[in-house]
Amino acid sequence: MTVTTTLQTLDELDSPLLSAVHRAPGHVGPDGPVGRWEGIDGNEDWADEIRRLKTARNAVILAHNYELPEIQDIADHTGDSLALSRIAAETDADVIVFCGVHFMAETAKILSPDKTVLIPDAEAGCSLADSLTETELAEWKAEHPDALVVSYINTTAAVKGLTDVCCTSSNAVDVVAGLPADKEILFGPDQFLGAHVRRETGRDNIHVWAGECHVHAGISGPELARRAEENPDADLFIHPECGCANSAIYLAGEGVIDPERVHMLSTGEMLTSAKVASDAGRGKVLVATEVGMLHQLRGVAPDVDFAPVNERAACPYMKMITPAALLRCLALGADEVDVAPDVAEKARQAVERMIAVGNPGGGE
Ligand code: SF4
Repeated sequence: MTVTTTLQTLDELDSPLLSAVHRAPGHVGPDGPVGRWEGIDGNEDWADEIRRLKTARNAVILAHNYELPEIQDIADHTGDSLALSRIAAETDADVIVFCGVHFMAETAKILSPDKTVLIPDAEAGCSLADSLTETELAEWKAEHPDALVVSYINTTAAVKGLTDVCCTSSNAVDVVAGLPADKEILFGPDQFLGAHVRRETGRDNIHVWAGECHVHAGISGPELARRAEENPDADLFIHPECGCANSAIYLAGEGVIDPERVHMLSTGEMLTSAKVASDAGRGKVLVATEVGMLHQLRGVAPDVDFAPVNERAACPYMKMITPAALLRCLALGADEVDVAPDVAEKARQAVERMIAVGNPGGGE
């Protein structure tokens, strides 16, 4: 991965709020403890200043569903990682500000190589993307030279560059089912999504990398069972990356939970299903994914009671995109995300092969 700040290439813009922005200690980044950018509240003065700077830069602000509510509310578009990258590819804006984690901004850059892509904090990594490195994938491929590599969209550009076809949680089953049955598959990095794909396709020639997202893995099967028992009438919206995903299938199969209540959904599909739940007069939905998703769900279906399976399932990397970080980003033109052209070209092919399968849905 290549990260550069753009103090040299983008003009700095004056902002009266910038002097208050500082790194605060106490949060964990991908390479150890690193402070978030803090010092500014996400109030109306801040929102006015963000809009002024955005216009001055001719920028578009994209925010992932797991971002802080004030970041989601100021964004031009909110959604899952792939949907946002596709919006980025079509925008007329000169600058794309990607409020998400680093691999997501890289994907936007891969699909929009001629645009300037900024992330408000380049330290915002991802434990799932970090669980399969370029070196590890190269070694794994060497052990299985005839295998095809299918990588979840939550991977670095370098890993995508070694991948035959990417997938999202919406289309992982379709992507794998569409590959020749006699071909070995290397599936990574998420073990829970890999188990879901193996179960759904019935293929026994899939090797699954033992990676996981620490946030989703923390939403456990026993916790899901307890919450489902406490709320016998609630539907269950479950992201396939969650540690409880296999348990949900098992509990439904055993009759402990009514299978009709269990919905395995990407984040984009959760929003569609929220509207369906509202139209059907459903009272309560338990949600197994990162808690930032609740803000979007409550927005599209305010009459439904959405509750987290695990209220502590907050991604510390997503929450590094603070109001202060976004202000700094727009004022200084930093941090810029770049991907080497040869890596970007190979990674783009893996993403485009996935889109050609159809139903890319959304990434995380
Ligand atoms: S919730 Fe997990 S998979 Fe998503 S960005 Fe955070 S660490 Fe990565």
